[in-house]
Amino acid sequence: MYALITGASRGIGLATAKEFAAHGYNIIAICHKNINDLSPLVDEILRQGGHCLPFSCDLSDPKEVFALWDAISDLNINIDVLINNAGISHIGLLQDMSNDEWMNIINTNLSSIFYMCKAVIPGMINRQRGHIVNISSVWGNVGASCEVAYSASKGGVNSFTKALAKELAPSDISVNAVAFGTIDTDMNKFLSSDDRLSLIKDIPAGRMGTTTEAGKIIYDIATTSNYLTGQVITVDGGWC
Ligand code: NAP
Repeated sequence: MYALITGASRGIGLATAKEFAAHGYNIIAICHKNINDLSPLVDEILRQGGHCLPFSCDLSDPKEVFALWDAISDLNINIDVLINNAGISHIGLLQDMSNDEWMNIINTNLSSIFYMCKAVIPGMINRQRGHIVNISSVWGNVGASCEVAYSASKGGVNSFTKALAKELAPSDISVNAVAFGTIDTDMNKFLSSDDRLSLIKDIPAGRMGTTTEAGKIIYDIATTSNYLTGQVITVDGGWC
C-alpha cells in the first residue's frame, strides 16, 4: 500500500509519513526546496523494511505537478491514500499584500490540492477505493485577522473537500479535511515567546498540539471506514 504525502520534509507532513510507515505503508514523500531533509525519512523507512520515494516539486505550479505525476506514473504504483498537507502562511494586513503574494498563497494552499487530486483520482476511481485527506486550519472555519489570504485558502480547502466527497463517494473514495488549531512546527516559529504564551493561554487544552498527535489523527481519519466522508474535522484542543 502506498500513501502519497505532500509537505513531508518537516512538521505535520513528516510526522504523518512516519505514522503511515509505522503501519506498513510505503510512502511517496513530496516537498518543495528541502529535498535533502527527506533523506533521514527515506533511511528510517528502509530500515523498517518499507520504501520511501522522495520527490521535490513546487506544487503551486501545475506544470511541475504534472511532470511529477508523469515520473510517479512510470513507477506503476497505486496510490491508496493521498494526504494534501503542503502549505504556507502569510501574516500581514490585506492592503499590504501584493497580487503575487496573494496568488502564491492561493496556488500553494488550494490550487495544489486541485492539481494533486486531478492526478491521483483516476487511479482511485479505476480501483473503486481510496482515501484523501486535505490539511486545513481553524482559520478556514472562522477567519483570522492579518491572515485573510491564508483563511480564504483554507476556507476553499474546506468547501473543496465537502464537494469532492460528494463526487467520489459513489466510487468508495473518502475525502475529508482536518482543520488544525496550533501545532508546534516551523510555521509558528515567527511567534515571540510572549505571543506564544498568550496564544497558549487561550487554548483550553493549555498547549499547542504536537506533530506526532497530528500525524496519528490524520492516519486515523484516512484509514477508517469510507462512510466518514465530506467532513472538516477540527482538531484544536478546544480552542475555536
Ligand atoms: P511546515 O513545517 O512549514 O512545513 C511545510 C511543508 O510544506 C514543507 O514540507 C514544505 O516543503 C512544504 N511546501 C511548502 N510550499 C510548498 C510548495 N510550493 N510545493 C511543495 N511543498 C511545499 O508546515 P506545517 O506547520 O507542518 O503545516 C502543514 C500543513 O498544516 C499546512 O497546510 C498548514 O497550513 C497546516 N496547518 C498548520 C498549522 C500549524 O499550527 N502548524 C495549523 C493549521 C494548519 P519544503 O521543506 O521543501 O519547503
